[in-house]
Amino acid sequence: MQFAELAAAYERLEGTPKRLEMRAILADLFRPLKPPELDRVLYLSQGMLRPEYEGVELGVADSLARKAVGVATHTPEPDVARRAKEAGDLGLVVVQLLTERPRLVADDPLTVAQVYSELERIAAANGPGSQETKVRVLTELLGRATPVEGKFLVRFVLGTLRVGVREMTILDALAVVFADGSKAARTRIEAAFNLSSDLGLVAGALVAGSLDGLATIQLQVGRPVRPMLAEREPTLAAVLERMEGRAAVEYKYDGLRMQAHVAADGTVRLFSRRLEETSAQFPELVRELPKALHSLPAIVEGECVPIDLETDEIQPFQEVSRRRGRKHDLAQAQEEIPVCLFLFDVLLAGGTAVWELDLPERRATLESIVRPNERVRLATQRIVTTADEATAFLDEAVAAGGEGLMAKSVAAGSGYRAGARGYWWIKYKRDYTVGLTDSIDGVVVGAFPGRGRRAGHYGAFLLAAYDATRDRFESFCKVGSGFDDAALAEMPRRLAPFRTDEKPAEVASSLVPDHWFRPGLVLEVRGAELTLSPVHPAGLGAVRAGVGFALRFPRFTGRIREEKGPTDATTTAELLHMYRSQVRQAAGTSDS
Ligand code: ATP
Repeated sequence: MQFAELAAAYERLEGTPKRLEMRAILADLFRPLKPPELDRVLYLSQGMLRPEYEGVELGVADSLARKAVGVATHTPEPDVARRAKEAGDLGLVVVQLLTERPRLVADDPLTVAQVYSELERIAAANGPGSQETKVRVLTELLGRATPVEGKFLVRFVLGTLRVGVREMTILDALAVVFADGSKAARTRIEAAFNLSSDLGLVAGALVAGSLDGLATIQLQVGRPVRPMLAEREPTLAAVLERMEGRAAVEYKYDGLRMQAHVAADGTVRLFSRRLEETSAQFPELVRELPKALHSLPAIVEGECVPIDLETDEIQPFQEVSRRRGRKHDLAQAQEEIPVCLFLFDVLLAGGTAVWELDLPERRATLESIVRPNERVRLATQRIVTTADEATAFLDEAVAAGGEGLMAKSVAAGSGYRAGARGYWWIKYKRDYTVGLTDSIDGVVVGAFPGRGRRAGHYGAFLLAAYDATRDRFESFCKVGSGFDDAALAEMPRRLAPFRTDEKPAEVASSLVPDHWFRPGLVLEVRGAELTLSPVHPAGLGAVRAGVGFALRFPRFTGRIREEKGPTDATTTAELLHMYRSQVRQAAGTSDS
Protein backbone atom coordinates (compact mmCIF):
# COMPACT_ATOMS: atom_id res chain seq x y z
CA MET A 1 0.00 0.00 0.00
CA GLN A 2 1.19 3.49 -0.82
CA PHE A 3 1.67 5.69 2.22
CA ALA A 4 -0.28 8.37 0.38
CA GLU A 5 -3.41 6.22 0.65
CA LEU A 6 -2.98 5.94 4.41
CA ALA A 7 -2.37 9.68 4.75
CA ALA A 8 -5.47 10.40 2.66
CA ALA A 9 -7.54 8.16 4.94
CA TYR A 10 -6.17 10.02 8.00
CA GLU A 11 -7.07 13.28 6.35
CA ARG A 12 -10.66 12.08 5.94
CA LEU A 13 -10.77 10.75 9.51
CA GLU A 14 -9.56 14.06 10.81
CA GLY A 15 -12.41 15.76 8.99
CA THR A 16 -15.22 13.86 10.67
CA PRO A 17 -16.27 13.58 14.30
CA LYS A 18 -18.91 10.94 13.39
CA ARG A 19 -18.15 7.45 14.58
CA LEU A 20 -20.11 5.76 11.79
CA GLU A 21 -18.21 7.65 9.14
CA MET A 22 -14.94 6.85 10.85
CA ARG A 23 -15.91 3.19 10.86
CA ALA A 24 -16.60 3.29 7.13
CA ILE A 25 -13.32 5.05 6.34
CA LEU A 26 -11.37 2.54 8.44
CA ALA A 27 -13.22 -0.43 6.94
CA ASP A 28 -12.30 0.77 3.42
CA LEU A 29 -8.72 1.19 4.58
CA PHE A 30 -8.42 -2.29 6.14
CA ARG A 31 -10.43 -4.31 3.59
CA PRO A 32 -7.73 -4.86 0.95
CA LEU A 33 -4.91 -5.50 3.44
CA LYS A 34 -3.28 -8.72 4.60
CA PRO A 35 -0.78 -9.28 7.42
CA PRO A 36 1.82 -8.00 8.02
CA GLU A 37 0.68 -4.82 6.27
CA LEU A 38 -2.67 -4.97 8.03
CA ASP A 39 -1.08 -5.13 11.50
CA ARG A 40 1.18 -2.24 10.65
CA VAL A 41 -1.67 -0.06 9.48
CA LEU A 42 -3.61 -0.98 12.63
CA TYR A 43 -0.77 -0.04 14.94
CA LEU A 44 0.08 3.12 12.98
CA SER A 45 -3.54 4.23 13.15
CA GLN A 46 -3.38 3.98 16.92
CA GLY A 47 -0.27 6.15 16.86
CA MET A 48 1.96 3.18 17.73
CA LEU A 49 4.39 0.76 16.12
CA ARG A 50 3.57 -2.24 18.29
CA PRO A 51 0.78 -3.14 20.72
CA GLU A 52 0.71 -0.61 23.53
CA TYR A 53 1.88 -2.98 26.26
CA GLU A 54 5.22 -3.50 24.51
CA GLY A 55 6.00 0.11 25.31
CA VAL A 56 7.90 0.78 22.05
CA GLU A 57 8.70 4.49 21.92
CA LEU A 58 10.17 6.54 19.10
CA GLY A 59 12.03 8.86 21.44
CA VAL A 60 11.68 11.89 19.17
CA ALA A 61 11.60 15.21 21.03
CA ASP A 62 10.11 18.38 19.52
CA SER A 63 13.53 19.89 18.93
CA LEU A 64 14.71 16.81 17.08
CA ALA A 65 11.63 16.81 14.83
CA ARG A 66 12.07 20.53 14.11
CA LYS A 67 15.67 19.88 13.13
CA ALA A 68 14.62 17.16 10.65
CA VAL A 69 11.90 19.39 9.21
CA GLY A 70 14.45 22.19 8.78
CA VAL A 71 16.96 20.01 6.95
CA ALA A 72 14.35 18.30 4.79
CA THR A 73 12.79 21.57 3.66
CA HIS A 74 15.98 23.69 3.61
CA THR A 75 14.53 26.02 6.21
CA PRO A 76 16.65 27.49 9.03
CA GLU A 77 15.69 25.81 12.29
CA PRO A 78 14.73 29.06 14.08
CA ASP A 79 12.19 29.70 11.30
CA VAL A 80 10.72 26.25 11.77
CA ALA A 81 10.55 26.85 15.52
CA ARG A 82 8.87 30.23 15.09
CA ARG A 83 6.30 28.89 12.64
CA ALA A 84 5.61 25.89 14.90
CA LYS A 85 4.98 28.23 17.81
CA GLU A 86 2.57 30.31 15.76
CA ALA A 87 0.69 27.34 14.32
CA GLY A 88 0.80 25.29 17.55
CA ASP A 89 1.35 22.18 15.43
CA LEU A 90 4.54 21.18 13.64
CA GLY A 91 2.42 19.01 11.33
CA LEU A 92 0.76 22.08 9.81
CA VAL A 93 4.14 23.77 9.40
CA VAL A 94 5.36 20.76 7.45
CA VAL A 95 2.37 21.10 5.11
CA GLN A 96 3.25 24.75 4.49
CA LEU A 97 6.96 24.14 4.01
CA LEU A 98 6.60 21.11 1.78
CA THR A 99 4.04 22.94 -0.34
CA GLU A 100 6.35 25.95 -0.66
CA ARG A 101 9.34 23.75 -1.45
CA PRO A 102 8.30 20.86 -3.66
CA ARG A 103 9.98 17.52 -3.16
CA LEU A 104 13.22 16.75 -4.84
CA VAL A 105 12.44 13.11 -5.61
CA ALA A 106 8.87 13.48 -6.77
CA ASP A 107 8.70 10.10 -8.50
CA ASP A 108 9.69 7.89 -5.59
CA PRO A 109 6.52 7.56 -3.57
CA LEU A 110 6.66 6.12 -0.05
CA THR A 111 5.01 2.81 0.76
CA VAL A 112 3.55 1.89 4.14
CA ALA A 113 6.14 -0.88 4.46
CA GLN A 114 9.01 1.56 3.94
CA VAL A 115 7.62 4.12 6.35
CA TYR A 116 7.03 1.46 8.99
CA SER A 117 10.53 0.01 8.77
CA GLU A 118 12.08 3.48 8.87
CA LEU A 119 10.01 4.32 11.95
CA GLU A 120 11.23 1.08 13.49
CA ARG A 121 14.79 2.27 12.87
CA ILE A 122 13.99 5.52 14.65
CA ALA A 123 12.59 3.62 17.62
CA ALA A 124 15.52 1.22 17.71
CA ALA A 125 18.17 3.97 17.71
CA ASN A 126 19.53 4.08 21.24
CA GLY A 127 22.64 5.25 23.03
CA PRO A 128 25.47 7.36 21.63
CA GLY A 129 24.79 8.76 18.18
CA SER A 130 21.13 7.80 18.33
CA GLN A 131 19.90 11.38 18.06
CA GLU A 132 21.76 11.84 14.79
CA THR A 133 20.35 8.58 13.46
CA LYS A 134 16.81 9.61 14.38
CA VAL A 135 17.20 13.01 12.70
CA ARG A 136 18.73 11.47 9.59
CA VAL A 137 16.04 8.83 9.12
CA LEU A 138 13.24 11.32 9.71
CA THR A 139 14.85 13.82 7.34
CA GLU A 140 15.05 11.19 4.61
CA LEU A 141 11.41 10.27 5.10
CA LEU A 142 10.30 13.90 5.00
CA GLY A 143 12.43 14.48 1.92
CA ARG A 144 10.31 11.94 0.09
CA ALA A 145 6.95 12.93 1.57
CA THR A 146 4.08 14.89 0.06
CA PRO A 147 2.75 17.71 2.26
CA VAL A 148 -0.07 15.56 3.66
CA GLU A 149 2.24 12.60 4.23
CA GLY A 150 4.70 14.91 5.96
CA LYS A 151 2.00 16.22 8.27
CA PHE A 152 1.07 12.76 9.53
CA LEU A 153 4.66 11.56 9.70
CA VAL A 154 5.60 14.42 11.96
CA ARG A 155 2.54 14.05 14.11
CA PHE A 156 3.16 10.34 14.38
CA VAL A 157 6.74 10.68 15.57
CA LEU A 158 5.74 13.36 18.06
CA GLY A 159 2.89 11.18 19.38
CA THR A 160 0.27 13.71 18.37
CA LEU A 161 -1.48 11.84 15.58
CA ARG A 162 -4.86 13.44 15.95
CA VAL A 163 -7.09 11.35 13.79
CA GLY A 164 -9.20 10.52 16.82
CA VAL A 165 -9.37 6.78 16.24
CA ARG A 166 -9.53 4.69 19.33
CA GLU A 167 -9.57 0.94 19.74
CA MET A 168 -13.33 0.79 19.96
CA THR A 169 -13.79 2.37 16.52
CA ILE A 170 -11.12 0.13 15.03
CA LEU A 171 -12.90 -2.93 16.45
CA ASP A 172 -16.14 -1.67 14.86
CA ALA A 173 -14.39 -1.48 11.51
CA LEU A 174 -12.88 -4.96 11.87
CA ALA A 175 -16.38 -6.35 12.53
CA VAL A 176 -17.55 -4.77 9.26
CA VAL A 177 -14.63 -6.05 7.21
CA PHE A 178 -14.31 -9.58 8.59
CA ALA A 179 -17.90 -10.33 9.61
CA ASP A 180 -21.36 -8.88 9.10
CA GLY A 181 -20.78 -5.81 11.28
CA SER A 182 -23.32 -7.16 13.79
CA LYS A 183 -23.15 -6.62 17.51
CA ALA A 184 -22.51 -10.32 18.07
CA ALA A 185 -19.49 -10.29 15.75
CA ARG A 186 -18.21 -7.10 17.36
CA THR A 187 -18.51 -8.70 20.81
CA ARG A 188 -16.47 -11.75 19.76
CA ILE A 189 -13.75 -9.59 18.23
CA GLU A 190 -13.62 -7.38 21.30
CA ALA A 191 -13.36 -10.45 23.54
CA ALA A 192 -10.31 -11.64 21.58
CA PHE A 193 -8.78 -8.20 21.89
CA ASN A 194 -9.46 -8.07 25.62
CA LEU A 195 -7.66 -11.36 26.04
CA SER A 196 -4.63 -10.45 23.93
CA SER A 197 -4.41 -6.61 24.07
CA ASP A 198 -3.08 -6.80 20.51
CA LEU A 199 -5.15 -5.54 17.57
CA GLY A 200 -2.62 -6.85 15.06
CA LEU A 201 -2.92 -10.35 16.44
CA VAL A 202 -6.72 -10.16 16.35
CA ALA A 203 -6.69 -8.95 12.75
CA GLY A 204 -4.29 -11.74 11.78
CA ALA A 205 -6.62 -14.35 13.29
CA LEU A 206 -9.59 -12.83 11.44
CA VAL A 207 -7.76 -12.92 8.12
CA ALA A 208 -6.76 -16.55 8.70
CA GLY A 209 -10.10 -17.90 9.82
CA SER A 210 -12.72 -15.18 10.03
CA LEU A 211 -14.61 -15.15 13.35
CA ASP A 212 -13.74 -18.80 14.02
CA GLY A 213 -10.09 -17.90 13.63
CA LEU A 214 -10.34 -15.95 16.88
CA ALA A 215 -10.31 -19.25 18.77
CA THR A 216 -6.57 -19.42 18.09
CA ILE A 217 -6.04 -16.47 20.42
CA GLN A 218 -5.20 -17.81 23.84
CA LEU A 219 -3.61 -16.50 27.00
CA GLN A 220 0.09 -16.10 26.71
CA VAL A 221 2.57 -15.38 29.46
CA GLY A 222 4.06 -11.94 28.86
CA ARG A 223 1.06 -10.63 26.97
CA PRO A 224 -1.24 -8.80 29.40
CA VAL A 225 -4.98 -9.37 29.61
CA ARG A 226 -7.21 -6.31 29.86
CA PRO A 227 -8.43 -6.19 33.45
CA MET A 228 -11.93 -7.11 34.61
CA LEU A 229 -13.59 -4.06 36.18
CA ALA A 230 -16.24 -3.49 38.82
CA GLU A 231 -19.58 -1.68 38.91
CA ARG A 232 -20.97 0.22 41.89
CA GLU A 233 -24.09 -0.07 44.03
CA PRO A 234 -25.17 2.47 46.64
CA THR A 235 -25.89 0.06 49.50
CA LEU A 236 -24.72 -3.36 50.64
CA ALA A 237 -28.31 -4.57 50.47
CA ALA A 238 -28.37 -3.62 46.80
CA VAL A 239 -25.02 -5.35 46.30
CA LEU A 240 -26.40 -8.57 47.76
CA GLU A 241 -29.56 -8.32 45.73
CA ARG A 242 -27.50 -8.06 42.54
CA MET A 243 -25.57 -11.13 43.61
CA GLU A 244 -28.78 -13.05 44.25
CA GLY A 245 -28.19 -13.29 47.98
CA ARG A 246 -24.74 -14.85 47.94
CA ALA A 247 -21.41 -13.25 47.22
CA ALA A 248 -17.72 -13.56 47.84
CA VAL A 249 -16.57 -10.38 49.55
CA GLU A 250 -12.93 -9.35 49.63
CA TYR A 251 -10.98 -6.55 51.23
CA LYS A 252 -10.66 -3.71 48.76
CA TYR A 253 -7.01 -2.78 48.99
CA ASP A 254 -6.11 0.75 47.93
CA GLY A 255 -2.97 0.51 45.89
CA LEU A 256 -1.87 -0.35 42.37
CA ARG A 257 -3.49 -3.11 40.43
CA MET A 258 -0.95 -5.57 39.14
CA GLN A 259 -1.10 -8.44 36.71
CA ALA A 260 1.85 -10.73 37.25
CA HIS A 261 3.04 -13.05 34.49
CA VAL A 262 5.42 -15.69 35.76
CA ALA A 263 7.04 -17.90 33.11
CA ALA A 264 8.03 -21.53 33.61
CA ASP A 265 11.64 -20.47 34.24
CA GLY A 266 10.57 -18.02 36.95
CA THR A 267 10.90 -14.87 34.83
CA VAL A 268 8.39 -12.28 36.04
CA ARG A 269 6.72 -9.45 34.17
CA LEU A 270 4.39 -7.09 36.00
CA PHE A 271 1.74 -5.03 34.23
CA SER A 272 -0.26 -2.07 35.53
CA ARG A 273 -3.98 -1.50 35.12
CA ARG A 274 -3.12 0.26 31.85
CA LEU A 275 -0.97 -2.69 30.80
CA GLU A 276 2.28 -0.82 31.14
CA GLU A 277 5.16 -2.94 32.27
CA THR A 278 6.24 -1.98 35.79
CA SER A 279 8.54 -4.91 36.61
CA ALA A 280 11.62 -2.71 36.94
CA GLN A 281 10.04 -0.65 39.72
CA PHE A 282 9.18 -3.59 41.94
CA PRO A 283 12.26 -5.83 42.05
CA GLU A 284 11.24 -7.40 45.33
CA LEU A 285 7.99 -8.68 43.80
CA VAL A 286 9.90 -9.96 40.78
CA ARG A 287 12.10 -11.84 43.23
CA GLU A 288 9.39 -13.14 45.54
CA LEU A 289 6.64 -14.12 43.08
CA PRO A 290 8.35 -17.25 41.69
CA LYS A 291 8.99 -18.38 45.26
CA ALA A 292 5.37 -17.84 46.23
CA LEU A 293 3.84 -19.58 43.21
CA HIS A 294 4.50 -23.24 42.79
CA SER A 295 2.64 -24.04 39.60
CA LEU A 296 4.25 -22.27 36.69
CA PRO A 297 3.71 -20.74 34.22
CA ALA A 298 1.06 -18.61 35.88
CA ILE A 299 -0.81 -15.35 35.43
CA VAL A 300 -2.20 -13.90 38.65
CA GLU A 301 -3.73 -10.59 39.61
CA GLY A 302 -3.58 -8.59 42.78
CA GLU A 303 -3.31 -5.19 44.37
CA CYS A 304 0.11 -3.88 45.39
CA VAL A 305 -0.01 -1.86 48.61
CA PRO A 306 2.62 -0.33 50.86
CA ILE A 307 3.07 -2.22 54.08
CA ASP A 308 4.91 -1.65 57.33
CA LEU A 309 6.96 -4.80 57.66
CA GLU A 310 7.42 -4.29 61.42
CA THR A 311 3.75 -4.08 62.28
CA ASP A 312 2.35 -5.76 59.15
CA GLU A 313 -0.01 -2.84 58.73
CA ILE A 314 -1.17 -1.57 55.37
CA GLN A 315 -0.01 1.98 54.70
CA PRO A 316 -1.79 4.78 52.79
CA PHE A 317 -1.81 4.51 49.01
CA GLN A 318 0.17 7.73 48.47
CA GLU A 319 3.23 5.86 49.66
CA VAL A 320 3.15 3.30 46.87
CA SER A 321 2.38 5.86 44.21
CA ARG A 322 5.78 7.35 45.01
CA ARG A 323 7.30 4.09 43.82
CA ARG A 324 5.72 4.38 40.38
CA GLY A 325 7.85 5.72 37.63
CA ARG A 326 10.88 5.71 39.89
CA LYS A 327 13.91 4.58 38.00
CA HIS A 328 16.72 5.54 40.32
CA ASP A 329 17.37 4.81 43.96
CA LEU A 330 15.32 1.66 43.70
CA ALA A 331 17.14 0.04 46.55
CA GLN A 332 16.34 3.00 48.76
CA ALA A 333 12.72 3.05 47.65
CA GLN A 334 12.40 -0.64 48.43
CA GLU A 335 13.55 -0.04 51.94
CA GLU A 336 11.59 3.12 52.55
CA ILE A 337 8.36 1.97 51.00
CA PRO A 338 8.13 -1.82 51.12
CA VAL A 339 5.18 -3.25 49.22
CA CYS A 340 3.12 -6.39 49.40
CA LEU A 341 0.98 -7.93 46.66
CA PHE A 342 -2.45 -9.18 47.74
CA LEU A 343 -3.53 -11.70 45.10
CA PHE A 344 -7.21 -11.93 44.26
CA ASP A 345 -7.38 -13.77 40.96
CA VAL A 346 -5.70 -16.32 38.72
CA LEU A 347 -6.04 -16.62 34.95
CA LEU A 348 -3.40 -19.23 34.17
CA ALA A 349 -2.10 -21.87 36.58
CA GLY A 350 0.58 -24.41 35.73
CA GLY A 351 0.12 -23.53 32.07
CA THR A 352 -3.63 -24.26 32.14
CA ALA A 353 -6.04 -21.45 31.30
CA VAL A 354 -8.44 -21.12 34.24
CA TRP A 355 -9.88 -17.68 33.56
CA GLU A 356 -13.17 -19.07 32.30
CA LEU A 357 -13.81 -21.06 35.48
CA ASP A 358 -16.32 -19.64 37.95
CA LEU A 359 -14.89 -17.56 40.78
CA PRO A 360 -15.04 -20.24 43.51
CA GLU A 361 -12.95 -22.58 41.35
CA ARG A 362 -10.49 -19.85 40.49
CA ARG A 363 -10.12 -18.95 44.15
CA ALA A 364 -9.55 -22.60 45.03
CA THR A 365 -6.92 -22.78 42.29
CA LEU A 366 -5.27 -19.60 43.56
CA GLU A 367 -5.16 -20.95 47.12
CA SER A 368 -3.68 -24.20 45.87
CA ILE A 369 -0.82 -22.58 43.95
CA VAL A 370 0.17 -19.79 46.35
CA ARG A 371 2.52 -20.27 49.29
CA PRO A 372 2.07 -16.87 50.90
CA ASN A 373 5.17 -15.07 52.12
CA GLU A 374 5.92 -11.61 53.49
CA ARG A 375 5.53 -9.95 50.07
CA VAL A 376 2.98 -12.09 48.28
CA ARG A 377 -0.27 -12.91 50.05
CA LEU A 378 -3.87 -13.80 49.34
CA ALA A 379 -6.59 -11.16 49.46
CA THR A 380 -8.87 -11.84 52.43
CA GLN A 381 -12.12 -13.33 51.19
CA ARG A 382 -15.35 -14.57 52.78
CA ILE A 383 -18.69 -15.81 51.49
CA VAL A 384 -21.65 -13.77 52.80
CA THR A 385 -25.37 -14.20 52.39
CA THR A 386 -26.82 -11.19 54.24
CA ALA A 387 -26.26 -7.44 54.25
CA ASP A 388 -25.41 -7.67 57.96
CA GLU A 389 -22.62 -10.13 57.30
CA ALA A 390 -21.37 -7.89 54.50
CA THR A 391 -21.46 -4.85 56.81
CA ALA A 392 -19.46 -6.70 59.46
CA PHE A 393 -16.91 -7.68 56.80
CA LEU A 394 -16.73 -4.09 55.59
CA ASP A 395 -15.89 -2.87 59.12
CA GLU A 396 -13.20 -5.51 59.32
CA ALA A 397 -11.79 -4.54 55.91
CA VAL A 398 -11.67 -0.84 56.76
CA ALA A 399 -10.08 -1.56 60.15
CA ALA A 400 -7.41 -3.58 58.35
CA GLY A 401 -6.52 -0.61 56.13
CA GLY A 402 -8.78 -1.35 53.16
CA GLU A 403 -10.90 1.33 51.57
CA GLY A 404 -14.01 -0.82 51.35
CA LEU A 405 -14.95 -4.16 49.93
CA MET A 406 -15.19 -5.87 46.57
CA ALA A 407 -18.19 -8.13 46.20
CA LYS A 408 -17.85 -10.81 43.56
CA SER A 409 -20.40 -13.10 42.01
CA VAL A 410 -19.98 -16.80 42.80
CA ALA A 411 -22.78 -17.85 40.46
CA ALA A 412 -22.48 -20.00 37.35
CA GLY A 413 -21.01 -17.76 34.67
CA SER A 414 -18.74 -15.86 37.08
CA GLY A 415 -15.67 -16.45 34.90
CA TYR A 416 -13.11 -13.68 34.40
CA ARG A 417 -14.49 -11.09 31.96
CA ALA A 418 -11.41 -9.46 30.49
CA GLY A 419 -11.80 -5.77 29.79
CA ALA A 420 -15.41 -5.66 30.90
CA ARG A 421 -17.07 -3.61 33.61
CA GLY A 422 -20.09 -5.41 34.98
CA TYR A 423 -22.04 -6.49 38.04
CA TRP A 424 -20.03 -9.69 38.50
CA TRP A 425 -17.77 -7.48 40.57
CA ILE A 426 -19.15 -4.61 42.63
CA LYS A 427 -16.96 -2.14 44.47
CA TYR A 428 -18.28 -0.63 47.64
CA LYS A 429 -16.43 2.04 49.53
CA ARG A 430 -17.52 2.92 53.01
CA ASP A 431 -18.54 6.46 52.18
CA TYR A 432 -21.03 5.62 49.43
CA THR A 433 -23.97 5.97 51.74
CA VAL A 434 -23.48 9.66 52.46
CA GLY A 435 -24.17 11.73 49.37
CA LEU A 436 -21.79 11.77 46.47
CA THR A 437 -18.52 11.15 48.21
CA ASP A 438 -17.09 8.72 45.71
CA SER A 439 -14.45 10.32 43.61
CA ILE A 440 -14.64 10.87 39.87
CA ASP A 441 -11.73 10.58 37.48
CA GLY A 442 -11.97 13.38 34.93
CA VAL A 443 -9.95 13.86 31.74
CA VAL A 444 -8.42 17.32 31.30
CA VAL A 445 -9.57 18.78 27.96
CA GLY A 446 -9.08 22.47 28.62
CA ALA A 447 -7.59 25.09 30.91
CA PHE A 448 -8.41 28.65 31.91
CA PRO A 449 -5.79 31.22 32.92
CA GLY A 450 -5.33 31.96 36.60
CA ARG A 451 -5.95 35.32 38.21
CA GLY A 452 -4.44 37.06 41.24
CA ARG A 453 -1.99 34.72 42.93
CA ARG A 454 -2.42 32.27 40.12
CA ALA A 455 -1.63 34.76 37.35
CA GLY A 456 0.76 33.22 34.86
CA HIS A 457 -0.41 29.69 35.69
CA TYR A 458 -3.44 27.77 34.64
CA GLY A 459 -6.14 28.64 37.18
CA ALA A 460 -8.84 26.10 36.41
CA PHE A 461 -9.35 23.04 34.24
CA LEU A 462 -12.15 21.73 32.12
CA LEU A 463 -12.76 18.05 32.86
CA ALA A 464 -14.56 15.53 30.71
CA ALA A 465 -15.96 12.02 31.05
CA TYR A 466 -15.71 9.40 28.33
CA ASP A 467 -18.90 8.41 26.54
CA ALA A 468 -18.23 4.97 25.07
CA THR A 469 -21.31 4.94 22.87
CA ARG A 470 -20.60 8.25 21.27
CA ASP A 471 -16.84 7.60 21.55
CA ARG A 472 -16.08 11.10 22.72
CA PHE A 473 -15.11 13.06 25.82
CA GLU A 474 -17.88 15.21 27.27
CA SER A 475 -17.23 17.99 29.77
CA PHE A 476 -18.83 17.83 33.22
CA CYS A 477 -17.07 20.47 35.32
CA LYS A 478 -14.55 23.23 35.59
CA VAL A 479 -12.31 22.67 38.58
CA GLY A 480 -10.00 25.17 40.28
CA SER A 481 -10.17 24.12 43.96
CA GLY A 482 -7.93 21.67 45.66
CA PHE A 483 -4.70 22.59 43.85
CA ASP A 484 -1.86 23.72 46.04
CA ASP A 485 0.89 25.88 44.53
CA ALA A 486 3.12 22.92 43.78
CA ALA A 487 0.32 21.04 42.01
CA LEU A 488 -0.58 24.07 39.92
CA ALA A 489 3.01 24.76 39.01
CA GLU A 490 3.35 21.20 37.78
CA MET A 491 0.30 21.23 35.52
CA PRO A 492 1.82 22.97 32.48
CA ARG A 493 4.52 20.31 32.29
CA ARG A 494 2.02 17.49 32.73
CA LEU A 495 -0.27 18.93 30.09
CA ALA A 496 2.34 20.01 27.55
CA PRO A 497 2.24 16.75 25.57
CA PHE A 498 -1.49 17.16 25.00
CA ARG A 499 -1.65 20.83 24.00
CA THR A 500 -3.48 21.61 20.83
CA ASP A 501 -4.61 24.86 19.28
CA GLU A 502 -8.17 23.91 18.53
CA LYS A 503 -10.88 21.84 20.13
CA PRO A 504 -10.05 18.18 19.48
CA ALA A 505 -12.69 16.43 17.37
CA GLU A 506 -13.34 13.88 20.11
CA VAL A 507 -14.18 16.51 22.74
CA ALA A 508 -17.65 17.89 23.38
CA SER A 509 -18.03 21.04 25.46
CA SER A 510 -20.06 24.19 25.24
CA LEU A 511 -17.59 26.05 27.47
CA VAL A 512 -14.64 27.36 25.49
CA PRO A 513 -11.43 27.26 27.53
CA ASP A 514 -8.40 29.39 26.67
CA HIS A 515 -6.30 26.30 26.08
CA TRP A 516 -7.41 22.98 24.63
CA PHE A 517 -5.83 19.60 25.34
CA ARG A 518 -6.20 16.27 23.67
CA PRO A 519 -7.62 13.79 26.19
CA GLY A 520 -4.66 12.36 28.09
CA LEU A 521 -4.22 13.50 31.68
CA VAL A 522 -6.66 12.14 34.27
CA LEU A 523 -7.35 13.93 37.58
CA GLU A 524 -9.28 12.62 40.55
CA VAL A 525 -11.94 15.00 41.82
CA ARG A 526 -14.67 14.97 44.41
CA GLY A 527 -17.79 17.07 44.50
CA ALA A 528 -20.93 17.68 46.50
CA GLU A 529 -23.37 16.19 44.01
CA LEU A 530 -24.15 15.58 40.38
CA THR A 531 -26.71 17.94 38.95
CA LEU A 532 -28.48 18.10 35.62
CA SER A 533 -26.88 20.78 33.52
CA PRO A 534 -27.71 22.61 30.33
CA VAL A 535 -24.07 23.75 30.16
CA HIS A 536 -22.19 20.45 30.18
CA PRO A 537 -22.79 17.74 27.58
CA ALA A 538 -21.64 14.75 29.69
CA GLY A 539 -24.28 12.04 29.31
CA LEU A 540 -26.41 14.40 27.27
CA GLY A 541 -30.00 13.19 27.14
CA ALA A 542 -29.43 10.24 29.51
CA VAL A 543 -31.90 11.60 32.06
CA ARG A 544 -33.68 14.28 30.11
CA ALA A 545 -33.40 15.62 26.57
CA GLY A 546 -30.98 18.52 26.18
CA VAL A 547 -29.26 18.28 29.57
CA GLY A 548 -26.11 16.54 30.74
CA PHE A 549 -24.41 16.08 34.11
CA ALA A 550 -22.38 18.64 36.02
CA LEU A 551 -20.38 18.11 39.19
CA ARG A 552 -21.22 20.70 41.83
CA PHE A 553 -18.37 22.11 43.95
CA PRO A 554 -15.66 20.03 42.31
CA ARG A 555 -12.36 19.76 44.12
CA PHE A 556 -9.10 18.15 43.02
CA THR A 557 -8.08 15.45 45.51
CA GLY A 558 -4.38 15.95 44.76
CA ARG A 559 -4.18 12.64 42.93
CA ILE A 560 -3.21 12.49 39.25
CA ARG A 561 -4.40 9.11 37.98
CA GLU A 562 -1.26 8.19 36.11
CA GLU A 563 -2.29 4.59 35.81
CA LYS A 564 -5.39 5.59 33.89
CA GLY A 565 -5.67 6.45 30.23
CA PRO A 566 -8.39 8.82 29.08
CA THR A 567 -10.88 6.07 28.22
CA ASP A 568 -10.28 4.49 31.65
CA ALA A 569 -11.51 7.63 33.36
CA THR A 570 -15.03 7.80 34.75
CA THR A 571 -17.51 7.22 31.93
CA THR A 572 -20.78 9.01 31.36
CA ALA A 573 -22.51 5.66 32.02
CA GLU A 574 -20.92 5.70 35.48
CA LEU A 575 -22.03 9.30 36.02
CA LEU A 576 -25.59 8.22 35.20
CA HIS A 577 -25.27 5.40 37.71
CA MET A 578 -23.94 7.73 40.40
CA TYR A 579 -26.70 10.20 39.64
CA ARG A 580 -29.35 7.53 40.04
CA SER A 581 -27.87 6.31 43.34
CA GLN A 582 -27.93 9.85 44.59
CA VAL A 583 -31.58 10.28 43.58
CA ARG A 584 -32.51 7.04 45.31
CA GLN A 585 -30.79 8.18 48.49
CA ALA A 586 -32.45 11.55 48.37
CA ALA A 587 -35.79 9.76 48.08
CA GLY A 588 -34.95 7.90 51.28
CA THR A 589 -34.80 4.47 49.71
CA SER A 590 -31.29 3.91 51.00
CA ASP A 591 -31.40 0.87 53.25
CA SER A 592 -27.97 0.56 54.72
P1 ATP B 1 -11.73 0.92 38.11
O1 ATP B 1 -10.50 0.10 38.22
O2 ATP B 1 -12.99 0.19 38.47
O3 ATP B 1 -11.86 1.70 36.83
P2 ATP B 1 -10.49 2.74 39.94
O4 ATP B 1 -9.19 2.48 39.30
O5 ATP B 1 -10.89 4.14 40.23
O6 ATP B 1 -11.68 2.05 39.16
P3 ATP B 1 -11.59 1.76 42.32
O7 ATP B 1 -12.88 2.35 41.93
O8 ATP B 1 -11.00 2.25 43.59
O9 ATP B 1 -10.47 1.92 41.24
O10 ATP B 1 -11.75 0.17 42.42
C1 ATP B 1 -11.38 -0.82 41.52
C2 ATP B 1 -9.96 -1.31 41.80
O11 ATP B 1 -9.83 -1.83 43.12
C3 ATP B 1 -9.50 -2.48 40.96
O12 ATP B 1 -9.14 -2.11 39.65
C4 ATP B 1 -8.30 -2.98 41.76
O13 ATP B 1 -7.15 -2.24 41.41
C5 ATP B 1 -8.64 -2.59 43.18
N1 ATP B 1 -8.84 -3.73 44.11
C6 ATP B 1 -8.49 -3.70 45.40
N2 ATP B 1 -8.81 -4.84 46.02
C7 ATP B 1 -9.39 -5.64 45.09
C8 ATP B 1 -9.94 -6.95 45.12
N3 ATP B 1 -9.98 -7.69 46.23
N4 ATP B 1 -10.45 -7.43 43.96
C9 ATP B 1 -10.43 -6.71 42.83
N5 ATP B 1 -9.92 -5.48 42.73
C10 ATP B 1 -9.40 -4.93 43.85
